[in-house]
Amino acid sequence: MVTKETHIQPQPAFETFHTLPLLPLKNVVILPKSIIPIVVGRDISIHAVEYALKTDRLLFITAQKDQRIENPTIDDLFACGTTAVILQEPVRMPNGALKILVESTSRARMHEMFMTGSFISANFTSLPTDGNEDTTELWALWRNLRRLYLDYTKLDERAPANLVEHIRIVADIDGAVDTIAVHSNLSFEERQSILELSDLSKRIATLARILQREVDIMHAELRIRGHVQTQIEQNQREYYLTEQIKAIQKELGREDQAAEIEELRRKLEKLNLPTEAQKRVDKELRRLEQMPPLSSEASVSRHYIEWIMGLPWHTKSEDTISINHAEKILSSNHAGLTKAKERIIEFIAAKKFSKKLDRSPILCLAGPPGVGKTSLAKSISDALGRDFIRISLGGIRDEAEIRGHRRTYIGALPGKIIQAMRKANTINPVILLDEIDKMSRDVHGDPAAALLEVLDPEQNKTFMDHFLDLEYDLSQVMFIATANMIDNIPYPLFDRLEIINLSGYTDQEKMDIARAFLIPRNLKEHDLKTTQFNIEDTVLATIVDQYTKEAGVRQLERVLTKLMRKAIQAILADTKIKAVEITPERIIEWLGNPIFKKTALDTEKAHVGLATGLAWTEVGGDILEIETSVLPGKGTVTLTGQLGDVMQESAQAALSYIRSRAEELGIKPSFHTSKDIHIHIPEGATPKDGPSAGITICTALISALTHKPSRGDIAMTGEITLRGRVLAIGGLKEKLLAAKQHGLKTVIIPQENESELKDTRKEISLDGLDIVFAKTMDEVIAFAFMQNPLTPLKPTKAKKKTKKKKSSQQKAGK
Ligand code: ADP
Repeated sequence: MVTKETHIQPQPAFETFHTLPLLPLKNVVILPKSIIPIVVGRDISIHAVEYALKTDRLLFITAQKDQRIENPTIDDLFACGTTAVILQEPVRMPNGALKILVESTSRARMHEMFMTGSFISANFTSLPTDGNEDTTELWALWRNLRRLYLDYTKLDERAPANLVEHIRIVADIDGAVDTIAVHSNLSFEERQSILELSDLSKRIATLARILQREVDIMHAELRIRGHVQTQIEQNQREYYLTEQIKAIQKELGREDQAAEIEELRRKLEKLNLPTEAQKRVDKELRRLEQMPPLSSEASVSRHYIEWIMGLPWHTKSEDTISINHAEKILSSNHAGLTKAKERIIEFIAAKKFSKKLDRSPILCLAGPPGVGKTSLAKSISDALGRDFIRISLGGIRDEAEIRGHRRTYIGALPGKIIQAMRKANTINPVILLDEIDKMSRDVHGDPAAALLEVLDPEQNKTFMDHFLDLEYDLSQVMFIATANMIDNIPYPLFDRLEIINLSGYTDQEKMDIARAFLIPRNLKEHDLKTTQFNIEDTVLATIVDQYTKEAGVRQLERVLTKLMRKAIQAILADTKIKAVEITPERIIEWLGNPIFKKTALDTEKAHVGLATGLAWTEVGGDILEIETSVLPGKGTVTLTGQLGDVMQESAQAALSYIRSRAEELGIKPSFHTSKDIHIHIPEGATPKDGPSAGITICTALISALTHKPSRGDIAMTGEITLRGRVLAIGGLKEKLLAAKQHGLKTVIIPQENESELKDTRKEISLDGLDIVFAKTMDEVIAFAFMQNPLTPLKPTKAKKKTKKKKSSQQKAGK
């Protein structure tokens, strides 16, 4: 509470003191010469106003230093304030406050304050302006201020326009300075400092400094605003241009393309491509944007991007390497094949131990068609839990089929390897390279060389497909190859392969496979119950024997499914039929007459000029009946029945051998000039080649030349040399199987194959088949004829006797 006694300021002796009711203001400094509305809320102030209204309407107004104080003491107030007159009757507001309009008159300094009844009075002296003389310096200062203010008003639109006019023509600098201060954007403290400056020059200088600062700030603001504006304009321009482009593209029908490219970009981002691929795709997308959407260029470009997007780049499946699991899967899909399964399990087991197994040789399952190569490979992928993709290499002759075509024409595609990777969802699938032995080469390069790169762990990490034109990592892929004839695999490839031989099945094995796998699996696929389709063993045997001719079980499966379809038809046609029994009659009805009725070999009878060989073809083992006839003539040798070069050479070798042993065989040594020889191997449609028919051709020829019958129950296989040595042959197991199937009792095989026979016996039963080894043709002859035509020459007195004997034999030969 302020009392009369509180604070007494030192008072200049000569000054006149005035007393007026005090109106302390919060937050506002009132400068002289301004008209201003004030809301008076505090009781003590309301009372002061009421007192003034009752008297001369005059107040002393000053500002509080701290607006938060409700009952200020003299220290809480600025000493410097203004006197003011209340202009109108106050308005009482609903909350009891008074709204008054005051006009401030002149500066004054408070020296004392004291309570006067219910309000405070202030003792003050007026503060007349110093230095208000009409000097050049003052005018200079003033003009500077005025110019600044004009600048200021140009920048601040809120400055009242009439005031600008007013200060142009002002005579009272003192009043004008305060007016400018009132209408400038000054802070509370700045206003108070202006108020306190009674020295006019100082006041002008201070105000000028403040205005200069304001003008500078506003200029800076303008610059910033200008900058922002340009930025905005730039953005607007870009927006406008993009909109224009869109409109143009819409006109050209490219709108969809832009959306499509956007979509492609979004999808590509998710793929997290390797840097090089990402760069390539970005470049391609930029090119695509420039192209007319329906142009061929654009479709080539799009095609390329889609290929990159379609490939797996990171996704990998985890290998489940469990030996038990693998064994289970292999045996649940395949009967027999014990050796192959063992090797595969070894391979998987090794993989479990060595992560570097990717460097191990590539498995190659070799054997005739239909013996389960593909399905074994599929089982390997199942056992490892990897994706499985099959690539057929049969008939490939162009390197581009492996490595792709360059992207120079529409319809160019990546090679088979990258195509396979697209089908796989992972970077580590099992890829089956089917029929690796069926590739050939032509002018367009060697596919085997490209394949070698694919299989080489040193190179396949950065495999380059011509179409992709990017490095692609194939190192995680597990390649498995299949082949029918390993002899046909190009050597460099063969060198990388670990061959697992799968040979043909015996009839019994085929029947077992049919019972255990083919029939149940296909019944399920045809939605038939086991009780609805019955087939007796004897009938199944007939099917195997007379309706299929193969080493594997593919035809057998086809025939069985045909029977199942017929059975379904029968069941559907007659609701009374609940189950179908496959009888021999049904077979003839549904499958027609037997297709491969085996021409029963006349095994009991002996024939002249005939010998039975054993052959190994791509479809398995078979027997080969070789017929020869010798007629008087000029010594021509004719071979018929689609024989390959090697077989022709075998025939020549056999003839040379016979010529060298003509005497011992009792053949006229000049037979090769006086006889025409015809060698024929029936089933002319099937090409036949290979050296293993050598001893058979030789036997048939000797029989024809000597007129001595060879044994009908014997089959033979072996390569012959000019000197009559018998060399090892391939495909022993298949050949022995064929011999068994044809009811032969004895087989002559090269001595060199003896060790292999031990292994073969483990795989197939050779009961009922006598196997005779031969090292030389002489031994073959001794065994193959009912009566050995070979009479050894007597060593001594040889010349004469031999000549005699020879001439008698020649006679017999005629
Ligand atoms: P390949 O690839 O050797 O030509 P596939 O693997 O295509 O032969 O086999 C042909 C059909 O025969 C497949 O349905 C396969 O499941 C079946 N098959 C072949 N061998 C066996 C076997 N030992 N056990 C069960 N099914 C077999």
